[in-house]
Amino acid sequence: AALSVDKGPLFKVILLGEAGVGKTAIFHRAKENSFNDGRKSTVGIDSFSLYVKVGDQQVTLGVWDTAGVERFRTITNNYYRGSHAAIFVYSVDEPSSIHYLGHWIRDLEEFSPEALKILVGNKKDLEGQISNETIELFNTGNECGLSVLTSAKTGEGIQDTFDTIAEMLVQKA
Ligand code: GDP
Ligand code: MG
Repeated sequence: AALSVDKGPLFKVILLGEAGVGKTAIFHRAKENSFNDGRKSTVGIDSFSLYVKVGDQQVTLGVWDTAGVERFRTITNNYYRGSHAAIFVYSVDEPSSIHYLGHWIRDLEEFSPEALKILVGNKKDLEGQISNETIELFNTGNECGLSVLTSAKTGEGIQDTFDTIAEMLVQKA
């Protein structure tokens, strides 16, 4: 169940996926509507509160970024634990990035089996290298509730994705 804060129910939403797919870029696009091409990768966990309206209800998404620790496969159980939704990010120009998601899907299912799974193909502004069939197979095979394409660079799809996640979480709660 969601904790209640003054901005309505609080849902924990975590970002997962290979290093380089754009998790931190999605995080910053959602947080401050910015994109920094030369951003230095930092190591550590980072989070912020995103306030979203669902109809006339205010909800808070506590959004978490691994901020680089996935490189060392050292995402802790606490990162997964208590999450209400997990955003699995791959990059549309890097076919291996969708296959590697299986690793984090299994971890999520172990530590937070009830969490909603969201599949996000980022870098939509680049040329896609992954077929719709591959995406669809991964989506249905892993029971993701939503599959979307985004670009953290142009901002396309980012706001909509978090709005939809908030709606889905309110419906589920
Ligand atoms: P992370 O390791 O998953 O956190 O990935 P980053 O957010 O650090 O992004 C890795 C690289 O991809 C950086 O050079 C970003 O500028 C770039 N990047 C992230 N999102 C996009 C996008 O939507 N389009 C393009 N063209 N590049 C992106
Ligand atoms: Mg990062």
